[in-house]
Amino acid sequence: MEQSIENKLIKADKTFSEWKKVPFEDKQKLIAKAAEVIKANSEKFGRIITSEMNKPISQSIAEIEKSALMMNYYADAENILKPEKIDSEFGYSEIHYAPKGVILGVMPWNFPFWQVLRFAIPTILAGNTVVLKHASICFGSGNAIEEIFLEAGFPEGVFQNLEVGHKVVKEILEHKTVKGVSLTGSEKAGGEVASIAGLNIKKSLLELGGSDAFLVLDDADLDEAARVGAWARLQNCGQSCIAAKRFIIEEKIEDVFLPKFIEEYKKFVAADPMDKETKLGGMARPDLADELEKQFQKALENGAEIIIPLERISSNEFKPGLIRVKEGNPILQEEFFGPLGMVMVAKNDEEALQMANDIPFGLSNSVWTKDINRQLFFVENLESGTVSVNKMTSSDPRFPFGGTKTSGYGTELSLLALKEFVTAKMIVGN
Ligand code: NAP
Repeated sequence: MEQSIENKLIKADKTFSEWKKVPFEDKQKLIAKAAEVIKANSEKFGRIITSEMNKPISQSIAEIEKSALMMNYYADAENILKPEKIDSEFGYSEIHYAPKGVILGVMPWNFPFWQVLRFAIPTILAGNTVVLKHASICFGSGNAIEEIFLEAGFPEGVFQNLEVGHKVVKEILEHKTVKGVSLTGSEKAGGEVASIAGLNIKKSLLELGGSDAFLVLDDADLDEAARVGAWARLQNCGQSCIAAKRFIIEEKIEDVFLPKFIEEYKKFVAADPMDKETKLGGMARPDLADELEKQFQKALENGAEIIIPLERISSNEFKPGLIRVKEGNPILQEEFFGPLGMVMVAKNDEEALQMANDIPFGLSNSVWTKDINRQLFFVENLESGTVSVNKMTSSDPRFPFGGTKTSGYGTELSLLALKEFVTAKMIVGN
């Protein structure tokens, strides 16, 4: 590892010994200040996002505004890390929550501010310090976030951007100063990083891929489901972990729903991402577009039928595609991380549920029905970290976020995230 990187780890560790003593409320004041800084510069930071990964600028600005909302949520949050008294026969009888130390964040490019801050803010509020290994195309975002912490008045060393490629992650995670890792990204990266953490007995949290179902039952509001469904698949050019990727439609309404859905889908036309009217940009990198085309071909070779063809119009831009896929197609084991959707037709609720769950992932699902009993059936039986009813999935700082199955483990957001990188200590005696 380069000396300059090791120096940053040592600085993070030194800063930790002071930062952990700062009262929770004082840390919250700094977070509130950082939220002001980010909100006041939403256009400037939005432009960094768009220039690095092609997200339409209106969506980049919305990402910054949502990050500020999340920071304000933690700035006002109840301190659930206060010592807790436990009834017992001992004089000392408490649970204390001790921060672990330097925590490494390995983060993706698809929401370059949101993903980093969603991990860093509760981790830092709990008393840890953070070092970031951002996606290699997002070092500008990583540096801007470090600047935000400094401008808000955080001590140097609470948050540092490392600007390293992924080959250095192993050495960083093995370094004695680093006590845990949070990774948002692919299963491949997650598995590799978690195995290094495991061998070194360090805590890990994984937020990985998904292939979420968007279930349209026969009594749903079809106009709304069609409009929201297209957005849920195609925002951020389809590059969202919780995007709707499989549209499971009940047989009875297929003929009515599908034309409405196709009409909404075709409203997404690739254009200049810096134009505020643009709804669809290009993919973040040309190799990701190559990968999506390969998956499209694989789906067709295994029997998928084209509803709207996926058409490549430049190195990283597409006319979005839609395919009809039947159970048994091996493509269902994969995630489409781009503007390509799958449609599946189910005979009834039981079959729709079975199709929704029959994948390796378990990130989130959205179900559309007006019937409360049918809603409850899906809420109880869908295997995912989030279930949304008559709305698309979107994360919310007030609620826990995380997956099950190969979508990962651990909880981000909500008060629960404050307890991810702490040790719950038993304090007993007389
Ligand atoms: P990725 O290739 O796994 O990269 C994510 C991060 O991991 C990057 O910083 C990357 O660094 C690093 N990385 C890659 N391979 C690594 C390795 N072998 N060891 C250590 N670090 C490694 O994923 P991506 O393409 O950026 O993001 C797309 C994936 O993330 C999708 O599967 C998506 O569903 C998932 N995702 C999940 C969530 C969630 O909250 N569950 C949110 C967003 C995205 P380099 O850039 O240097 O390679």
